[in-house]
Amino acid sequence: METPEQRNARHKKAMQRKKEHVDQRIAAAVIDKGLLLVLTGNGKGKSSSAFGMLARSVGHGLRCGVVQFIKGQWECGEHLLFASHPLVEFYVMNTGFTWETQDRDADIAAAEKTWVYAEALLKNPDIKVVVLDELTYMLTYGYLNPDRVFDALTGRPSDQHVIVTGRNANDRLIQLADTVSEINDIKHAFNAGIRVQKGIDY
Ligand code: ATP
Ligand code: MG
Repeated sequence: METPEQRNARHKKAMQRKKEHVDQRIAAAVIDKGLLLVLTGNGKGKSSSAFGMLARSVGHGLRCGVVQFIKGQWECGEHLLFASHPLVEFYVMNTGFTWETQDRDADIAAAEKTWVYAEALLKNPDIKVVVLDELTYMLTYGYLNPDRVFDALTGRPSDQHVIVTGRNANDRLIQLADTVSEINDIKHAFNAGIRVQKGIDY
């Protein structure tokens, strides 16, 4: 039977090995570059994660840009907080959800108009972080020319980070990205009849 002292010694040894391993990996990561991050999947947490990174970046004094490709029904807290922030340029596509507009031509026109703002951010070396919220739908629905989108992403300043959110991120986007997280839907309160909650859902 292991004594508490032996257990503690074994734990210490395991943690030392772990620390060596982690330290080696940290020492090996020496590259700095602008990242493309994709947050996809059916679970809740994609846009809120993107805006969490925006908050971090603004906290560090970085200039940031946000383009939201789908305007929700509710005025979201991130817009209220960041739209008038001196470090943030914030543009919201002025149509509702696609199943509400039900007008493909109008949606395409709005998407293209909105993409012009994204392109300007992706060309601006002073903007260090760009959030393209719900961009994946513009590609899935074919509202934006994919080559136009990918040219802007690949041609951006080399130290600029871009965060793309939305379900069903396509293979081309995943291939190009540096970091991709898929958030799974295990459970969502809405499916239990609970309506959207301020601060949590919008
Ligand atoms: P959030 O903005 O909360 O991080 P999200 O960006 O991951 O959510 P979206 O698909 O953009 O998800 O949907 C936004 C809204 O839909 C939010 O109010 C969110 O709570 C809700 N929602 C997200 N995922 C689900 C789900 N799996 N079932 C029901 N409602 C969801
Ligand atoms: Mg979202």
